[in-house]
Amino acid sequence: MENQSIEKVFQKLLKTIKEYQPQADTELVKLAFEFAQKAHAGQKRMSGEDYIFHPLATAQTLADLRLSPTMIIAGLLHDVPEDTKMTLKDIEKDFGSEVAELVNGITKLGTIKYRGMERYIENLRKMFISMAEDLRVILIKFADRLHNLKTLYALPRNKQIRIASEVLEIYAPIANRLGMYEMKGQLEEEAFKYLYPKEYNWIKQIIEEQGKLKEKNLQKNIDFIKQLLKKEKIDFIEVKGRVKQLYSLYQKLIKYDKDINRVYDLVALRVIVKDIPTCYEVMGVVHKEMKPLKGRIKDFIAQPKPNGYTSLHTTVFTPEGEIVEVQIRTQEMDEESEYGIAAHWYYDEKGSIKPDKKMKWIKELTKWQKEVFENQKLLERLKIDVFQDRIFVFTPKGDVIDLPKESTPIDFAYHVHTEIGNKCVGALINNHIASLDTSLKSGDMIEILIDKNRKYPNQDWLKFAKTSVAKNKIRTILSKRTLFEKFLKK
Ligand code: MN
Repeated sequence: MENQSIEKVFQKLLKTIKEYQPQADTELVKLAFEFAQKAHAGQKRMSGEDYIFHPLATAQTLADLRLSPTMIIAGLLHDVPEDTKMTLKDIEKDFGSEVAELVNGITKLGTIKYRGMERYIENLRKMFISMAEDLRVILIKFADRLHNLKTLYALPRNKQIRIASEVLEIYAPIANRLGMYEMKGQLEEEAFKYLYPKEYNWIKQIIEEQGKLKEKNLQKNIDFIKQLLKKEKIDFIEVKGRVKQLYSLYQKLIKYDKDINRVYDLVALRVIVKDIPTCYEVMGVVHKEMKPLKGRIKDFIAQPKPNGYTSLHTTVFTPEGEIVEVQIRTQEMDEESEYGIAAHWYYDEKGSIKPDKKMKWIKELTKWQKEVFENQKLLERLKIDVFQDRIFVFTPKGDVIDLPKESTPIDFAYHVHTEIGNKCVGALINNHIASLDTSLKSGDMIEILIDKNRKYPNQDWLKFAKTSVAKNKIRTILSKRTLFEKFLKK
């Protein structure tokens, strides 16, 4: 019985892939599925399901995002090295180094833990990007986390809170910055449910009540706009309605003193047309027959949102006197807002532009966004190198330390504590003995070996210490020693 439904879920995955990539070689996907099934054999999720349902759900989300078979294979195998007897080497042998690297990236991301401390949040976000040098890793991690959220009910309360906080503080903002509205909305909705159950139910009720109310008028308004466009001989692809995402409605309501009547975009109308000039034409026609509200016309085409979102927005009175938001955009803009990977790491938090080499990456990313559906290969070549100048490494407890590139275990030791630096005699990098002049890499876990009886650092450390913190501390204590020795000799 169970096996039958596993097979069914897998067949659905294959069907989805075939829909957007008819030529895809699904043989390897099948092999990956069988590999994962064998590796996870006998394992159960906390929900009681066979473990294989989790990688399958992860892969299905990736397929729904129309991503490449390589990523889907990595999605199927993502928990194998961590939770089974099979290793990364086994994966590499059967599926090649590209898949193995993706799986390795996901395993590394799994070691990040949100500890609820404000100061770690930004570091974690940065690390996410820096460690996941390959954008694809983040996308797979989103899919993984989405399914974890959907089965969160089976976990103890403290874990629910930790995972949901992590999603709201780290994953959702990243999805937002990548312009992935659909993913962001889904992640937020699931996390919101566990973090603020009372507020969640309140919003859910509002959406149900108001939604029913608006739904009646929705079709009428859609038809009205269609008639309008036909009369003016403007070609359109589609006119449809959309309901606001749950968590963003919550945030808006808080901003507006919980007054639902001030939220005009609970249900919005969306007009999809073929090109940008037509967008403006539609806006003109709509305003001719539907009076716009003052100060509610927003041109995100001329001035895109920081995450790259483009569209025209206007809020108008319908013939019945109802207030409704109309969003006008091209098909491309519409798809981008759903799947988008538009990023804007070149904006700082205040919204000003830092023109530097990051721009090149942004341009590549934007270009990719346009080509993604035709050319999956481009995504595979894309590397995120936004934080080129910093690395993020772990303490054995999983805390994050932010250091300049090419820092060594000595920099790490002094960063943790002066005495750790002074008493340092060796280092373990990812559990392997390493020399003290080794350049650290993002994602490395560092453990400093100390000799309690040691008092002074080694003069030679100055040759490879990278941070001024470490250098200054070494110099200070060495000069003290020199003074002390001179004093003894006298
Ligand atoms: Mn997983």
